[in-house]
Amino acid sequence: FLTRNGQPHTYLDVEEDPDVQALLDRFQLCLEDVPVVICRYDQVLKNPTNEEIADSLGLNVAIEPDHVRDIVVVGAGPAGLAAAVYGASEGLDVLVVESHAPGGQAGSSSKIENYLGFPTGISGQALAARAFMQAEKFGADILIARSGSRLRCDGHPYLIDLADGTTVSTRTVVIATGAQYRRIPLPDLPRFEGVGVYSGASGMEAQLCKGEDVIVVGGGNSAGQAAIFLARTARHVLVVVRGKGLAETMSRYLIQRIEASGNITLRTFTEVSGLEGNGRLERVHLRDSRTDERFPMPIRHLFLMTGASPNTGWLTDCVALDGKGFVKTGPDLTVENLARWRLKRPPYLLETSRAGVFAVGDVRSNSVKRVASAVGEGSICVQFIHRTLTE
Ligand SMILES: Cc1cc2nc3c(=O)[nH]c(=O)nc-3n(C[C@H](O)[C@H](O)[C@H](O)COP(=O)(O)OP(=O)(O)OC[C@H]3O[C@@H](n4cnc5c(N)ncnc54)[C@H](O)[C@@H]3O)c2cc1C
Repeated sequence: FLTRNGQPHTYLDVEEDPDVQALLDRFQLCLEDVPVVICRYDQVLKNPTNEEIADSLGLNVAIEPDHVRDIVVVGAGPAGLAAAVYGASEGLDVLVVESHAPGGQAGSSSKIENYLGFPTGISGQALAARAFMQAEKFGADILIARSGSRLRCDGHPYLIDLADGTTVSTRTVVIATGAQYRRIPLPDLPRFEGVGVYSGASGMEAQLCKGEDVIVVGGGNSAGQAAIFLARTARHVLVVVRGKGLAETMSRYLIQRIEASGNITLRTFTEVSGLEGNGRLERVHLRDSRTDERFPMPIRHLFLMTGASPNTGWLTDCVALDGKGFVKTGPDLTVENLARWRLKRPPYLLETSRAGVFAVGDVRSNSVKRVASAVGEGSICVQFIHRTLTE
């Protein structure tokens, strides 16, 4: 949490650091209190929540209960930060609510190489820190370690309940809560994200694994597309699925292409059981679920194409969602979705089935899951918000 929020800190390991006992004695701490955050040598937080740490560091502004914002942006990934920068720079009163740290999924990427203007790449955290500063420079207020827990859209202004019990009011809402890639439950996974483990297969990743062996995990269409795409540059692509095959989960045309390819192999009843490497991924351990046989493979590129789940649980039934829970917007909305729509005009591009509530970035149904498109959508929606505010 401190690293992702760019807060300088020193980490002491109670099991390995020789001086730790003196520190524990000095602050009268016992092992049950760990993890402990000692802040400015005068505040001691025992096993704190991120929310408590944020408060202790003074990261957040106070919320005035009667203050009605022009925009509340929920989620400070690339899409939400872009909406905040463009909204605040155009004179709107913007509040951003972020449950963890600015940057979202992009913040966990060690190097983003396909974002315009950074020919040698930029770490997700550095990009997020710049965007955060830019949003604050233009006057957006940003709450860190605060989650939107419920959108209340029956009246106007809209109300958003936060998990800490406070409520914010707003004329318009930007839903930018993104998605979470379904991660395989491996403790070492975060160490290798972006340095050998990828959740998307673009031209950049294809270039990175040119001439090498790669593993694609997943049996859906995104896994099939990734395998076929990567097979053009990789030496060999191994597709790993837990089930008995692809027929029930992948489109027939993709299965045919995989079968016709000379360098794609399918391995069924198999799962990833471990990752290894020094600084980057070097070995992947697979496990056959029928025999429990485990075997390491020298693999430097692992693509987790196991699908994404949208962070839309907090929206209750305010806006129409697609079959997978992503928020439907603009032209994707059906007559049925718009049964409660009261305005003469149809929803704007990026507007949900509720007037004045917009959805941008990965949380949106049919979105392109890329930093640039999230940023683009975040900035575009502000133009429609200006129009909505005059209605
Ligand atoms: C490891 C990794 C590497 C990637 N590399 C690249 C790359 O190189 N190039 C590229 O173009 N794309 C890349 N992507 C994809 C890219 O990061 C995403 O498409 C992009 O981050 C989507 O932005 P977003 O703002 O829509 O959502 P997200 O980035 O998912 O951000 C959503 C934010 O909302 C917050 N949130 C969620 N729920 C709540 C709530 N209830 N209340 C408050 N806040 C909430 C989350 O904490 C998060 O910060 C990568 C993704 C990953 C995971």
